[in-house]
Amino acid sequence: MFAANMKTEMAHRAICMFLLVLEVNVAGANPAHWQQLAEQELHKALNRKWNTNKAHNVILFIGDGMGGPTVTATRILRGQTQGGRGEETVLEFEKFPNVGYSKTYSEDRQTTDSAATATALLCGEKTNYRLIGLSDQARDGQCASQQGNEIPCAFEWFRADGRSVGMVTTARITHATPAAAYAKSVSRNWEVDGDMVGVTGGCTDIASQLIYNNSHVKVILGGGRQFFLGRNHSDPEMNNTNSAKQRLDGVNLINVWKEDKMRKNFDAEYVWNNAQFDAVDPSKTDFLLGLFEPSHMQYDLDRDNGPQGEPSLAAMTQKAIRMLQKDTNGFFLLVEGGRIDHAHHENNAKRALYDGLAFEDAVKIATEMTDERDTLIIVTADHAHVFNIAGYPARGNNIFGIVDIDEDLNGPYFTTLLYGNGPGYDAGNRTDVKTTDTTDKNYIQAAAAPRIEDSHGGQDVGIYARGPMAHLIHGVHEQHYIAHVMTYAACVADNKVDVTL
Ligand SMILES: [Zn+2]
Repeated sequence: MFAANMKTEMAHRAICMFLLVLEVNVAGANPAHWQQLAEQELHKALNRKWNTNKAHNVILFIGDGMGGPTVTATRILRGQTQGGRGEETVLEFEKFPNVGYSKTYSEDRQTTDSAATATALLCGEKTNYRLIGLSDQARDGQCASQQGNEIPCAFEWFRADGRSVGMVTTARITHATPAAAYAKSVSRNWEVDGDMVGVTGGCTDIASQLIYNNSHVKVILGGGRQFFLGRNHSDPEMNNTNSAKQRLDGVNLINVWKEDKMRKNFDAEYVWNNAQFDAVDPSKTDFLLGLFEPSHMQYDLDRDNGPQGEPSLAAMTQKAIRMLQKDTNGFFLLVEGGRIDHAHHENNAKRALYDGLAFEDAVKIATEMTDERDTLIIVTADHAHVFNIAGYPARGNNIFGIVDIDEDLNGPYFTTLLYGNGPGYDAGNRTDVKTTDTTDKNYIQAAAAPRIEDSHGGQDVGIYARGPMAHLIHGVHEQHYIAHVMTYAACVADNKVDVTL
């Protein structure tokens, strides 16, 4: 394959040689640079090879709310934090050989939420807004519509094939995206029993589903501790008081988890801060549960990295891979950068993009720890946001700055980063951004329409893939197709056929 490609490339280059000579040095400040950059890309494209191995391991990275402009702005920020102008930077997942677009609409909404999109990504079917792990026959908030409409999802597929599974997120572990990997619910809001008062029909909360129905999950790392403690239990980070969000039924689900593992003679560790997390030796631990905050984990910009603080997404991803790599049958890992979305909802671009950097760090660790011959890594977003990069700023202009050049300005200056709606709306009385520090981490960017929080965006999002069968990501895809690429590559679920034969 490689030799044939080389031959084609060389033959074609001979034909083009005259043209290339003419093209060099035509215009621009540094034409040789652009020429070289394009040559490198061309060479890489011509020598692409299909990896048709079976995926022993699959890692799905979901940047929650990481639409196209978020990726572009994160890329520029990465470059600027490294002293460059920024635009030329290539993020780790942008180095992946296969890229496509994902159409994120759900069965019932043009622009949808993380529950419906996570169900598409992790269960392989499009469904309705707010549903988790259920087909489009179920109805939002109607417990009676759950029965018979449950779909098998990622953790079930890989478990049925004897592989280990785990998940890592910076959001609550019961939040919509991770929940689709292991739970079934007609409402994404039913994370805890206290939010289901009056519900009849036998539906159970997402936290208890995680503990009682998913005892096989090897690694669970994220936030959301409040839903695992009864209201009679004190939270270690709340000065030994408790939160009104804790469980009505008074059950300490963390103890239920520990007792289950003890009864089965497993080495299990429960941790809730950095010091405890760092002390966990993956080689000696069979099961790991880490719940680092009562609700979501901190934004990366605000995170305390000390012993009483909490681990980065990259540190959690690293430990999860170490734990799961012990399984000779292979593994499935879900990693969510859960709070890119939350900061966007607040029109707070700086926190969103720094969480984007933390997400990229996690992807980098995963690429370093795995072999692309046997591990399929897919990086995507569940949906976009109404977030944009505006104006005609100069090359290298601070990504959090004010558009510095605008020949067509008709009113006050504005920032490069803007939102379509959200709390940054100011009824058209835009203040002069030149009197504000727009690079401050608490700066709220302007929004065109009023909304309590910004909405998701309906535009397509990127899919980046490397490893076995990554070439199946190659065009404009329906979002739920991504799940089928994972099951096909790994030969699980409906695809238990050895593709290497
Ligand atoms: Zn959201």
